[in-house]
Amino acid sequence: METVFSKIIEGVIPCKKVFENDRILAFYDIEPAAPVHVLIIPKKYIASMNEVTAEDLPLIAEIHSVAQQIAVELGVAESGYRLINNCGPDSGQAVHHLHYHLLGGAKLGALTG
Ligand code: IMP
Repeated sequence: METVFSKIIEGVIPCKKVFENDRILAFYDIEPAAPVHVLIIPKKYIASMNEVTAEDLPLIAEIHSVAQQIAVELGVAESGYRLINNCGPDSGQAVHHLHYHLLGGAKLGALTG
């Protein structure tokens, strides 16, 4: 399934990379919603949280570990940050490739719902 994120993984679309290994890529969001706004994605195609399987759970755990590491490297671990996953139409998920937003660097607004 081709999405803007698969093109970023392939290097067809450039990104400002924050972290990469064989399984995970993290890069700055093109339309930042906070002073620090990084997207963390698996290289494996998973459309959304709804498609995560038991076999993907080590990958999901590793994404959390990478998020923790990025928060330290970008200086927001102590001040605080959010890790957000949008899943499905009501959440506003626009890119159908699993991704987590890491947001921080300022006092964040209240969650709405
Ligand atoms: P969603 O609403 O959770 O699907 O978030 C998708 C995010 O991808 C949005 O915050 C967009 O700004 C971001 N985005 C879309 N295209 C690009 C790109 O080419 N580079 C970096 N971020 C992108």
